[in-house]
Amino acid sequence: MGAARDLAERPLVPRRKPAPAPAASLETLRAEKDAPFENALRPRVLREYIGQARVKKVLATAIRAARGRKEPLDHVLLHGGPGLGKTTLAMILARELDVRLHVTSGAALDRGADVLAQLNDLQPREVLFVDEVHRLKKPVEELLYPALEDFRVDIAVGKGASARVLRLPVEPFTMVGATTRLGVLSAPLRNRFGLVLRLEPYEPADLRAIVLASAGRLGVELDAAAADELAGRARGTPRIANHLLKRSRDWAQAHGDKRITADDVRGALADLGIDADGLDEMDRRLLDLLVNRYGGGPVGLRTLSIAAGEEPETVEEFYEPWLIQAGFLMRTSQGRRATPIAQNRFGTTRTGGHA
Ligand code: ADP
Repeated sequence: MGAARDLAERPLVPRRKPAPAPAASLETLRAEKDAPFENALRPRVLREYIGQARVKKVLATAIRAARGRKEPLDHVLLHGGPGLGKTTLAMILARELDVRLHVTSGAALDRGADVLAQLNDLQPREVLFVDEVHRLKKPVEELLYPALEDFRVDIAVGKGASARVLRLPVEPFTMVGATTRLGVLSAPLRNRFGLVLRLEPYEPADLRAIVLASAGRLGVELDAAAADELAGRARGTPRIANHLLKRSRDWAQAHGDKRITADDVRGALADLGIDADGLDEMDRRLLDLLVNRYGGGPVGLRTLSIAAGEEPETVEEFYEPWLIQAGFLMRTSQGRRATPIAQNRFGTTRTGGHA
């Protein structure tokens, strides 16, 4: 139990050791959620949600069936990297079901009383969105099990001989859990979700459509070439695409441009230290170490992370997915290895060198 609790109590975004990365590095963009900006850009219905075709198809069917039967939707677990659209999808689900959305997180549901308050507030068929659901503590999870399964909670009252269990009903509801770390979710919790859906990194064509839609919502003009440039550098992630759009809009404005051009995007991204592959300073440092200090690997995650001055969890969760997807790094049973693409590009450069 101890290990499970330790994992549950770990922060989602591990604290960083001070590292000499630039203040406006991509790492900052990835970690931070800019709520007002993001809310303005969120698609509101499933039809407007771009990409993730399989997930949308499964959800559309489930929504139609639940609405037809006037029953709550099955509990849904959404997993995938930060910024891939889990929160957006939860909001869309509630809207498509025409019910209220209650938003909380694994960290906020700290005590049993927090869970009871949330459950007590639910009307039939409403959606309870629990972000970072892997951070729920064990006793809180256990209180949730019967609520998820049988729409009731069991509360132990009294002590010793007078102890008894109070059974309270909960309105039938849908829990939508979101996590970036499916692996640390306990099996009993995971098994209580009827739909477990994985969000994949987006293809450039989808990211292009996302930035064009975002530009429309912001009321700014974006050249087709600028949209391509943004899509290619957003690491498969809508949140990053939108943040890069915002930076490019600022750059265009500062240079007196009415519409955002590919040159504006390139200028803004150069300032952020983001290269043509979407790699930032820390990505390049990791690859340079892997190729030049560790001979291309295999090297353990911990060793590589310590050498780069970064937490292993941050490297694993925030940096590696894109490095793997872009074909620079491989995870093997012996450790991390550089691909020939990384060898070619970093074999002769030094840490921090630009493309
Ligand atoms: P997560 O909860 O997975 O961290 P969010 O749902 O907060 O991610 O999405 C981050 C940003 O990306 C939001 O501004 C959202 O509007 C945008 N976004 C995410 N997925 C999509 C999508 N499929 N289509 C359009 N915009 C998206």
